Amino acid sequence: MTLVERRAPASGATGRSGALVRTHYTNDPEASLAIAALPWFTEWADRVGGDCGFVRTGFVQLVGVDDTKLLRENVKSLQRLGATTETLAASDIRAVVPGLAVADDESAAYEPESGYADPVATTRGLVDAARRLGADVRENCSVDGLLTAGGHVVGVATNDGPINAEVVVLANGAWSNALTRPLGLDLPITATRAQAAVVRRPAPLVGIAGHPAVIDRRNGIYARPYDADRTLVGMSSSNADTLSDLDDVPVAPGFAERARDRLAEAFPAFSGQPISHTQAGPLDVTPDHCAILGPVDGIDGLVLAVGMSGSGFKKAPAIGACLAELIQDGQATSADLRPFSYHRFARGAQIERRDYRMGAGGGTALVH
Ligand SMILES: Cc1cc2nc3c(=O)[nH]c(=O)nc-3n(C[C@H](O)[C@H](O)[C@H](O)COP(=O)(O)OP(=O)(O)OC[C@H]3O[C@@H](n4cnc5c(N)ncnc54)[C@H](O)[C@@H]3O)c2cc1C
Repeated sequence: MTLVERRAPASGATGRSGALVRTHYTNDPEASLAIAALPWFTEWADRVGGDCGFVRTGFVQLVGVDDTKLLRENVKSLQRLGATTETLAASDIRAVVPGLAVADDESAAYEPESGYADPVATTRGLVDAARRLGADVRENCSVDGLLTAGGHVVGVATNDGPINAEVVVLANGAWSNALTRPLGLDLPITATRAQAAVVRRPAPLVGIAGHPAVIDRRNGIYARPYDADRTLVGMSSSNADTLSDLDDVPVAPGFAERARDRLAEAFPAFSGQPISHTQAGPLDVTPDHCAILGPVDGIDGLVLAVGMSGSGFKKAPAIGACLAELIQDGQATSADLRPFSYHRFARGAQIERRDYRMGAGGGTALVH
């Protein structure tokens, strides 16, 4: 097995990721992947080796009052799929997330096993494990094209010469169309910006697990501890900008202050807190905001793992396991990859989400 990376592992979106690790999705296919992935983070030392920086803070999904019924239904679906999750009433939310502003009629979904990880340590851990198992890891090596023979992909052309392969897994995120279009394969992927701000955390909330990871649809944010006294916050509705330069994704002017102020709507103690820094990366967004995973009819030898649509980090270990099963055994068993087929778009079989309304100006929830 050869891994080819143009720069260094985690130099794309992954290195800028919020890296929330949770199972709450509003559709079964994505939830199944997230549920299959969670044990990779919680049992990292045994499964992969080393430390991926996973911190079990718990995870809380807050929604507006109008979505309480939908939240309960989604929690029941997640429980049926095997997730450890429950619905909390306002008094329980206040106990689990001290400092969070919650009205008496609001509810949340809670996952005690979830949290966040270090995206760079996670990626390097997987690459190191692959290397120990015999993989040839080529960093600073760029794939210039997919090699084909008689309609089959038979390897890749790189700036360091060709590499022959029976199967090529394309997992290059927002850059994927540059390699598939010469084969006549136009992936329905739009490159958009995702950005996050890191804010100083006020005294009552300090600690590496100072508050749970949170998605708050009421205020259109997600947040998790960054380290002992800082919190990473992103805005769920801030990803509409299409990108022209995938390698240099700037943070929008005023973004950090807006994100901090929305965070303070959720956690009033963050009001006026200093901003430490910002980060931004390119997302690969599909029409149903779900990944494209698996083979392509008519192009043997190519397997897609693209279009993560802003929430690929926490699912990545399960996606990797599923693709290995698919390639070796002909079928993924860790989770069902069939709903993620590239062909779903032409067949009118996009993945449907039972999604929540977004407060704070609306928008589409993508990242986290
Ligand atoms: C601000 C932000 C917050 C996020 N928050 C979360 C979150 O909380 N939870 C979550 O699950 N997800 C989150 N995401 C999304 C998640 O990070 C991504 O979905 C995931 O990291 C995508 O991984 P990837 O490997 O598909 O793509 P990338 O990480 O972009 O990797 C693609 C790699 O391909 C390489 N490459 C490109 N072209 C070539 C070529 N021709 N030859 C060789 N190599 C090439 C690039 O250098 C890059 O390293 C967030 C993303 C951002 C930016």
